[in-house]
Formats: sequence, structure tokens, C-alpha cells
Amino acid sequence: MANVVVVGAQWGDEGKGKIVDWLSERADVIARFQGGHNAGHTLVIDGEVFKLSLLPSGIVRGGKLSVIGNGVVLDPWHLEKEIAQLRGQGVTITPETLMIAENTPLILPIHGELDRAREAQNSVAKIGTTGRGIGPAYEDKVGRRSVRVADLADDATLEMRVDRALVHHDALRRGLGLDPVDRDRLLADLRAIAPVVLEYAAPVWKVLNEKRRAGKRILFEGAQGALLDIDFGTYPFVTSSNVIAGQAATGTGIGPGSIDFVLGIVKAYTTRVGEGPFPAELHDADGQRLGERGHEFGTVTGRKRRCGWFDAVLVRQTCATSGVNGISLTKLDVLDGFETLKICVGYELDGKRLDYLPTAADQQARCTPVYEEMPGWSESTEGARSWADLPAEAIKYVRRVEELIECPVALLSTSPEREDTILVTDPFAD
Ligand code: GDP
Repeated sequence: MANVVVVGAQWGDEGKGKIVDWLSERADVIARFQGGHNAGHTLVIDGEVFKLSLLPSGIVRGGKLSVIGNGVVLDPWHLEKEIAQLRGQGVTITPETLMIAENTPLILPIHGELDRAREAQNSVAKIGTTGRGIGPAYEDKVGRRSVRVADLADDATLEMRVDRALVHHDALRRGLGLDPVDRDRLLADLRAIAPVVLEYAAPVWKVLNEKRRAGKRILFEGAQGALLDIDFGTYPFVTSSNVIAGQAATGTGIGPGSIDFVLGIVKAYTTRVGEGPFPAELHDADGQRLGERGHEFGTVTGRKRRCGWFDAVLVRQTCATSGVNGISLTKLDVLDGFETLKICVGYELDGKRLDYLPTAADQQARCTPVYEEMPGWSESTEGARSWADLPAEAIKYVRRVEELIECPVALLSTSPEREDTILVTDPFAD
């Protein structure tokens, strides 16, 4: 199978970094298809630490083509910084190794300002944005007032695009008590950064289709998780783009039929950062223990992540909406030593049993989890590299997860180390 899409199947932080790195070594092309410079992950290659938040993981490996698809929103100044930082570490980045879709919308400084001004004023319920302007940039895309990569190449077009955006932004800023946008400064900044972006601009849809025809292996690298999807996530506590696997097609310009395998990354328990519904959340010692053993603290903020037992209802749902062919089950080792494990197998809502998460917010809030109990294991699974290394109870737990989510395990991860992975089905295998 030549083309693999990797998506997070919960609320993000499922351990995509390790798996994407593992797969990207075997891919020819690595493409991002949604999100912005908020897809923070750390790669450790031969002892060297690389921090990426915008560029695809493949960039640090020689001989690969990295692609930023049109589904991404691009902050040109961040791009410049990330490229400079990686070059400083000896990574080669050229128009042959990095391509950015010409139809990618830009994140402008005014987007970050808007993000922060709105979040500061929103007393009803905070969505929890990262303040990087990603949400407002997507709003402008749908509002047909984005400045896109291709617009940077022609000054008259650039001015026209900026003026179109400012009609909207100045009105909004007045209402928020912000000064109007300094048009000349914004244009000057864009003219100055234009060559940095244009160097990598390409018709990505065309390049990817040619690569596909030539039999190259393409890895589509998702960010965040399917429960944060703008349509199918726990709206409004979601991200501002589609995250589910279908976005790999629309966010790069390949047909849906060109996706051969969708790999869902699934943590062996559940976590969520920030606000929003989380029916199987634990507030007890078990939740505390999952958080501590799993190091569930935000990488940037250090904020504690909310934790709960594995919620099979949610993962069955995300496997369906992303058409997941196989999952990579991660952090199984975090469950070592629990006497009893619980799995959420359904919800109870007003005396009725549900096998999915309803959409209405009030119903979500009233859903209580129905648990099934399983015996835990006292042995360590950390670093296991074959089924034979796993205790019988751990194998039973994995099998039960597969049954409940109606999707097989393709990969099993038992530590942060790349090699500590049990391969069942190779997503790239023919
Ligand atoms: P992402 O947001 O989905 O990319 O998640 P990350 O790649 O940041 O992974 C979260 C953390 O989990 C990282 O510190 C990983 O090293 C760690 N991790 C990944 N897989 C495993 C695993 O199987 N076991 C343990 N204990 N840690 C893991």
C-alpha cells in the first residue's frame, strides 16, 4: 500500500510522534494536511533533538520530500524561524525537499491579535486556543478573504487581498477596542517575507499525483485528534479544521481513492487537554495514577491533562468517521500494575443505553459511562517487542479493545523508544 494517513483517534497526544517518525523513515513523501504551527512534536534521531511544530516530520531525514498541503494555515514568519532553527542543526532544506501548496492560506499577525483579544473577552466559555491565529486564519479562508501563498508573487494582487481582509478585520477590531490595522506595515512585512515562502511554493496537488503514479509512498501526517475535528469533535471545544482522514484528500489535492490505509493512533486510556465534555473522566486515585505514569502534562504549558479509562465508545466512533483500517495502540505500559482495569463500553443517558456520543451538548453532559472490568497484570510490558513478551491479561485487554472498537491493532507501542513496537500489520505493505 503506497499511501498511508495517520490520524489521532482521541483528543490528541496519543503518541503520534513516535509512530509518524517510524513510518516516515519508510515513506518517500510526508505531507501535512491540516492545522498550523501547533502540531508540536519532538523527534530524537541519533541522540539529536529536533523540535517541529509546522514542518512535516520527514524534513529531518534526508532524501524525503516534505509537503505542506493547502489544508494547513501557514505563518510565514514561523516558517522562517523553524527553517533557520533546523538548518542550524544541520538539516538541509531546499525546494527539492520542501514544497508548500500555492493555495495555502497565510496566518497574519492580525490573526494572532484577534485570537488573543477574543479569548480575553470571552467570559461565556473559553475554547482554549493557542493564541497563534490559527482559528482566525481558517475563518478568513472560509470568508474568502485570505492572503494565500500565490498572492505573495504579485504586488497588485497582494494589496487587493490585504484590503479585502482589512475591511472585515478593522470592523471587528473596532468592536474589540483594538486599533485599526497598520496597512502599510502589514504590506511591508508581507513583501519582506514573500521570497522566503515563494521559494518553496509549488502545485502540490500535481506533484503528489505524479508521485502517486510513480508508485512513491506517501505518508499523510495528521495533527491533533479526531475528537477535536471541527465537524465530528466535541464542538465548540474543538480545533478549527477537519482532522479526520478525509481531510488528507481535500487538504492536499489527491482523490479519496488514493488513500490505501488509515492508521488511527489510540492511547490505551483516555486524556483530554483543556475544557469540553469527557464522559469517562476520572477524578480519583486511578486518574491521578494514569496521569503520573503516563506523564500526562502539556509539553509547552506543563498543564495537567485530564485522564480516564479507555473509552471504546469514542474510539469506535472515530474509527468509523476516519475509516480507520488499523490502529496503533500506544502507552499500554502505562496500565502495568493496575489490579483491575476498566473500559467504557457505553453511556447511560436518561435511563437508556447509548453506543455513541450524542451531539447535543446537554445530552453529552448527562451521559454517564458504563464500564466493563478486566483483570490487570502485575508484570511490566514496557519495551515488549513481541506478543510473547506480553502477559496473558495484557493480550486479553488488547483483544477486547479490538472487539469493542471494531478495528484491528496494526501496531502496539510499549515505550517511547522507536524499536519498542510490536508490528502486526505493516500499513505500507502491499
Ligand atoms: P502526539 O501529540 O500524538 O504526537 O503525542 P506525542 O508524540 O507528543 O506523544 C506523547 C508522549 O508519549 C511522548 O512523550 C512520547 O514519547 C510518549 N510515548 C509514545 N508512545 C509511548 C508508549 O508506548 N509508552 C510510553 N510510556 N510513552 C509513549
